[in-house]
Amino acid sequence: MPLSGQHLVAGEFVASSLPLFYAYNPASGERLEPGFCEGDAVVVDVAVQQAEQSFDLFRLTSGDQRAELLDRLAEELLTVKTSLCERAQLETGLPQVRLEGELNRTVNQLRMFAELVRSGAEKQPVVETAQPQRIPLPKPDLRLTHIPLGPVAIFGASNFPLAFSVAGGDTAAALASGCPVVIKGHPAHPGTSELAAQAIRRALDQSGLPQGICSLIHGKEQAVGEAMVRHPQIKAVAFTGSLAGGRALFDLAAARPEPIPVFAEMGSVNPVFILPKALQEAGPRLAEQYAASLALGVGQFCTNPGLLIALKGPALDSFLRLVNEQLNSTHALPMLHIGIKKNFTTKLEQLSALSGVKKISAREDDEMKPCFASPVLLQVAAQDFLSNSQAAEEVFGPSSLVVACETPDEMLAVAESLQGQLTATVHAVKQESALCKRIFVLLEKKAGRLIYNDFPTGVEVCSAIHHGGPYPATTDSRFSSVGTSAIKRFLRPVCYQNFPPDLLPENLKNLEV
Ligand code: NAP
Repeated sequence: MPLSGQHLVAGEFVASSLPLFYAYNPASGERLEPGFCEGDAVVVDVAVQQAEQSFDLFRLTSGDQRAELLDRLAEELLTVKTSLCERAQLETGLPQVRLEGELNRTVNQLRMFAELVRSGAEKQPVVETAQPQRIPLPKPDLRLTHIPLGPVAIFGASNFPLAFSVAGGDTAAALASGCPVVIKGHPAHPGTSELAAQAIRRALDQSGLPQGICSLIHGKEQAVGEAMVRHPQIKAVAFTGSLAGGRALFDLAAARPEPIPVFAEMGSVNPVFILPKALQEAGPRLAEQYAASLALGVGQFCTNPGLLIALKGPALDSFLRLVNEQLNSTHALPMLHIGIKKNFTTKLEQLSALSGVKKISAREDDEMKPCFASPVLLQVAAQDFLSNSQAAEEVFGPSSLVVACETPDEMLAVAESLQGQLTATVHAVKQESALCKRIFVLLEKKAGRLIYNDFPTGVEVCSAIHHGGPYPATTDSRFSSVGTSAIKRFLRPVCYQNFPPDLLPENLKNLEV
């Protein structure tokens, strides 16, 4: 499928006169054609105006109409599956099998939101009828529902070029809620972004909905994202990426004359505690699972197990020997883009330079290509870890820091010291349930998903999942960016008091009380 290299604004291809930027194949370093237009505040303004104009029609569509749009988009993505996955592989270096799996996830989450909005459950209607005779005061008729916020600015994530990019989870949730979207494609995979935006354009056409509901703007400069967040008609922001980026956009949104919510998911070290008896009884199995989890996708998952906490001693030594063996049998693989690789190298150097931190496993690959990385394991004593908060910062990529504790109380102190996390895990056997419970009591305050005897990578997309957590994992711990509850980010409650039936929203009429 041909790529225009242009922005797709309300269904129209739009060029700009700024210098073009290019995607690069991280596996070969090759520059990929075509060049892509750089966005600016002017194109952002056109896209947001179009989004605003389509909002009044879109917000009043029925759940069935929005479900039809989402289902058609799922079909359109499947129709271009081959070209989408081929382009995504060129731009990200991710293997085809992973990308095909990610496309299926993208399709399934669109269908999941379609099913949700067909049911109307996302509006969470509540009806309390009047009690005119109530003493001492009569109670009015009160009906609560949820309505969409307005145009949403979405930032495509680099590490999920399909499932968290142009037609990914944020877009699916916003469209399901009735919010138009203005998307900034991630500059590392602009071709994949354009193909997905073209699929959205076809789905809007087939559904008879205005094209202003979705625009894609390319950009390598931060000015594009800033213009989106500053625009007065943007009413919410969804972001997945770095803490620096998420925090900058959050601060920008808070400084607007009308502040708006920024739902930023910014990563985590996902601590994994292995209690002593579990380490003794299941060391070899846990070593294999931990090594696989930390190397998965070249460590480029926000749920990567970046911290492992265990008691010092022979059981930990033999566990680490097995982890090393497993990691040494892997090959160096390309990271998503050169910026991510540079950040990985810098953060690793900073971590390695901290007092008491030593590398215990790192392959010395002779001819490492610029974007390639292989797994690295580091170790630190709990006392050193506790005395330096930098040791607990995320190193995005295939690395993990093992914190060796002298006593179970030190394990508790490590748990207590942690910042907000997406996930926190404990491996334990039944006889350790007292200590396990004490650790989980602490971890409950820190993480959005608590895991028992499993590993954090692999996020199930469903209604019971929560993918979020206290700052700095996200900017709002009450919301998830994965699963059906992700739609709540783009809806707000409205209460109707004493309304006659003909003035009530459809979903509040004739409700069983
Ligand atoms: P990023 O640098 O945070 O960028 C994500 C998107 O936000 C890009 O479109 C970027 O545009 C934009 N952006 C970032 N800072 C901005 C600012 N101050 N103002 C306006 N726009 C801004 O993430 P990345 O490129 O994916 O990877 C860089 C690092 O992010 C990684 O090394 C890793 O540490 C982290 N990361 C975390 C996750 C996660 O799951 N939490 C996922 C991916 C990456 P520009 O490219 O134009 O700056």
